Amino acid sequence: MSITIRRFESTAADFDQTMNALLSWESVSDTGVQQAVTDIVNAVRSRGDEAVIEFTNRFDRMNVETMAQLELNQEQLQAALDGLPELQRDALLAAAARVRAYHEHQRQDSWRYTEADGTVLGQKVTPLDRVGLYVPGGKAAYPSSVLMNAIPAHVAGVQEIVMVVPTPGGELNQLVLAAAAAAGVSRVFTIGGAQAVAALAYGTATVPRVDKIVGPGNIYVATAKRMVFGAVGIDMIAGPSEILVVCDGATNPDWIAMDLFSQAEHDEDAQAILVSTEADFLDEVQASINRLLPTMERQDIIRASLEGRGALIHASSREDALAIINRIAPEHLELSVADPESWLPDVRHAGAIFMGRYTAEALGDYCAGPNHVLPTSGTARFSSPLGVYDFQKRSSLIMCSADGASELGKVASTLARGEFLTAHARSAEYRIKD
Ligand code: NAD
Repeated sequence: MSITIRRFESTAADFDQTMNALLSWESVSDTGVQQAVTDIVNAVRSRGDEAVIEFTNRFDRMNVETMAQLELNQEQLQAALDGLPELQRDALLAAAARVRAYHEHQRQDSWRYTEADGTVLGQKVTPLDRVGLYVPGGKAAYPSSVLMNAIPAHVAGVQEIVMVVPTPGGELNQLVLAAAAAAGVSRVFTIGGAQAVAALAYGTATVPRVDKIVGPGNIYVATAKRMVFGAVGIDMIAGPSEILVVCDGATNPDWIAMDLFSQAEHDEDAQAILVSTEADFLDEVQASINRLLPTMERQDIIRASLEGRGALIHASSREDALAIINRIAPEHLELSVADPESWLPDVRHAGAIFMGRYTAEALGDYCAGPNHVLPTSGTARFSSPLGVYDFQKRSSLIMCSADGASELGKVASTLARGEFLTAHARSAEYRIKD
């Protein structure tokens, strides 16, 4: 049975409007959810652990009386790692090692320089003290998400990583716990939803208050993260996953079809787009899609995603293809072309760039090394993948010499008097040498 994916020409008169419609995405803002989350957050703020226990019992079909029943210890995490089948444990540890090695390159150092008069200026880099990691646990479990969120924090030097993961019906996911052990998570609470976000943001008698909350989740989690932002930092509110594949027509069309599927299988709202300067190649990929779709376990989701939000775009030139890349600012960009390096200077906006025919996006999802938490919905125009820098902050350093204070004092005093801020002016003037 064939599948209908929309086809566009970059030279069409209405191509701009077409792209606007194709890319439009509004995150759902449900007032019912908004109210429910407000109530949960307020309850946790005022009643602490008692409210966390109550909501956990209600939403995750649990029956616990104390917070101690909702915390796992390091022995349990290590036992989960040790208990994995060898193949899985080796894969998890290999992925963790590669993700750690990559992120080591992102560590920022403090710096300073000294001016001629002895004044020292610089920047002190400090890791956040304590970070909260939300791991979704409702419908599916994502051990790779644990690695991608916790390892950069660990590399940054964060002392305490507090993970929360709901365990509906009390069911623990051993791979998720094993990933927590591999990634250096400090504490794990089996709580989820808005109550977990509120507990991390404001702290309870048992759950320590964190400085930043990272990690994906459903609409209750995302709404709660938005609500507590300000009291704590948050990473981002991610939209549906996206891939843009640009191909010169010389890659096996089955590979390209499967790369599109690999995003589409995430959910119905995921977006997979192929751009090629070769119209015939689009036909070949369409044929591969038709042939391969029935072999996919999640074919219903893939079909809904490709028919609803997917596209095959014929670009009239390489310049047109580049313009489309920068218009979309995709979360994932695959440059499945002969010489990806020659394209790179003109690619301005993309979360992660997968270069060459062999670099399947799926490799980046799990184990290549770079982070898989990436800016979605065109936000790659102004933001970057999650990284070590998200878990470090900077303080400015100024240490004036007597000569430096005297010279700077003259400048500061003039400007302060212009602003009628007398105390500023006099504070600077005290330090001016006669
Ligand atoms: P989840 O952990 O996000 O949510 C489960 C929690 O939702 C429950 O513990 C409960 O507290 C709360 N909840 C459920 N129904 C509620 C209600 N009626 N009222 C109040 N609270 C309620 O797990 P999930 O539901 O499986 O969602 C996982 C989400 O994470 C999906 O949307 C998935 O797409 C997303 N995700 C995104 C990425 C990414 O990188 N963008 C990665 C992994 C997962």
